[in-house]
Amino acid sequence: GVKIKPLVAGNWKMNGLKSNLAEFYKMRAGLTDDLAEAVDTMICPPATLIAVLAESSAGGAIALGGQDCHAEMSGAHTGDISAEMLKDAGAKAVIVGHSERRADHGEKDADVNAKAQAAWRAGLTAIICVGETEAERKAGQAVGVVERQLNGSVPDGATAENTVVAYEPVWAIGTGLTPTAGDVEDMHKAMRDNLVTRFAGAGDAMRLLYGGSVKPANAGELMAVANVNGALVGGASLTADAFLGILAAY
Ligand code: PEP
Repeated sequence: GVKIKPLVAGNWKMNGLKSNLAEFYKMRAGLTDDLAEAVDTMICPPATLIAVLAESSAGGAIALGGQDCHAEMSGAHTGDISAEMLKDAGAKAVIVGHSERRADHGEKDADVNAKAQAAWRAGLTAIICVGETEAERKAGQAVGVVERQLNGSVPDGATAENTVVAYEPVWAIGTGLTPTAGDVEDMHKAMRDNLVTRFAGAGDAMRLLYGGSVKPANAGELMAVANVNGALVGGASLTADAFLGILAAY
């Protein structure tokens, strides 16, 4: 494989007010030049905070991302946010197809695919999430499910620049449970093979993140797994100590 600069992205979910942004500034202050050289970092705060953080951290080493976008550019979609709006606010990327969106909002692979294309249209990187449920893993279907999600959710035209894929087993999100390093290795190898078959060199260079209960204590082991090119982090991205502790794996 090719040398891939890792990405550690934090997903704040529905957490964060203007009054508690000190953690973000602490993260930024803790990001040394050496660390920034070794690993790309991103925080995906609630959309209400993207512009606030973009304005306060111009040129800062921590990129900003959205957590979801609508597939269309604008229009009669009350409460939705377009990829262009995220870009306008200062985002560089947007998470699409997170399991909480798939579960809470019934998003299907085709919806995720359309959102990823919307991200590209706006000039954002799409961070496309896939991952099996506990029942699917127990039934021995994990790899098949993830391959089906990849085939449906990653649009034609994906490149290493416009797309990041995040493997997030649903049962590992917010639970403190993680797959074994061996299971992560097997899944990431299957994803790599799938993406190389479809996108050749672009698939070989695409970042594959692991997500699900990553914390400082397990980041070193998980980030060392072959074909794991960084992490998507929920809970542990809310405090500077935990987020910087994960970055210490690099
Ligand atoms: C996530 O929701 O993307 C996630 C990985 O959450 P956590 O790290 O809290 O398991």
